[in-house]
Amino acid sequence: MPCRDEFELIDWIRQRAQVGHPVIAGIGDDAAVLAGPGARTVGESQSAGRENLLVTTDMLIEGWHFTLETATPEQIGRKALAVNLSDIAAMAGRPTAAFISLALPKRHGRRLAEGLYGGLEPLAREFGVTLAGGDTNSWDGPLVVNVTLLGETSGRGAVLRSGARPGDRLYCTGPLGGSRAERQFSFLPRVELALRLHREFELHAMMDLSDGLASDLPHLARESGVAGIVRAEAVPIHADVSPDLPAPERLHHALSDGEDFELLIAVGPEASRDIEERAAELSLHWIGQVEPGEGCFLEVAGTRQPLEATGWTHRFE
Ligand code: ADP
Ligand code: MG
Repeated sequence: MPCRDEFELIDWIRQRAQVGHPVIAGIGDDAAVLAGPGARTVGESQSAGRENLLVTTDMLIEGWHFTLETATPEQIGRKALAVNLSDIAAMAGRPTAAFISLALPKRHGRRLAEGLYGGLEPLAREFGVTLAGGDTNSWDGPLVVNVTLLGETSGRGAVLRSGARPGDRLYCTGPLGGSRAERQFSFLPRVELALRLHREFELHAMMDLSDGLASDLPHLARESGVAGIVRAEAVPIHADVSPDLPAPERLHHALSDGEDFELLIAVGPEASRDIEERAAELSLHWIGQVEPGEGCFLEVAGTRQPLEATGWTHRFE
């Protein structure tokens, strides 16, 4: 198995995974889409008005995703749920129930657990999520928190990564970069905005920005079989990126820092005309377009260069 990073490994696993009923969309999207109860075929489950089930899972590991010197247990608990909420938002779904699995260090395990739930519970309430189960372990290792979150699609179905078409415009839902200082813990998952946009416009494709636009856009482009173009001057840079840095460095932060948890959306020309009229009210930023072909490119002052995937990737031997 010649895999050097998480995405090569995921491809390898994907080749072995079964596709077909009840899985409508599986490995390769922000959440899996499963046929709702009662549907006997994928076709039946996609018929108008039927709600499908969404499932996503994400793990946070002490010493890798966070340290207890720089983050409180409350922040970690909140984030463990928030990153999953963001994946349900990316499908234009509504979250429903969460399963929380803990590996608690034997020392301070109870204090940590109380803190985690102190951060997680208010967010769960805010988003109408029921804590429905989980698993509890203690060991001599570091703190590990895994959240599995269920959700459901609206009657219009899920928005996948694979639906972008040449001619689409690319939008993101907020400014990017500088999130690692604090915003990675306090961001508000874009669940309501995604549901609203899905209700009002025909969205072709959507994903959340967790690893950084430069790393995430290639996934959307690849799943859709298209090329993605980002216009450098259109990328909104967050106020958390120091204004004292030179412009290219500020852009690099916006493209590569990751943990933005904004949504990246591909929209056809007709819907994008409607969106343009209301872009400010909708807080959408038009950052580029979709073209035939493959790969992703950054357009700087009229010339194109490959968009280097400089965001975050897990690597191994
Ligand atoms: P996200 O950043 O949106 O959470 P990931 O990059 O973690 O997504 O994962 C990309 C896709 O690969 C998702 O569909 C996820 O379910 C799938 N995936 C990741 N790890 C595994 C694994 N070990 N086995 C099966 N599928 C996996
Ligand atoms: Mg995601």
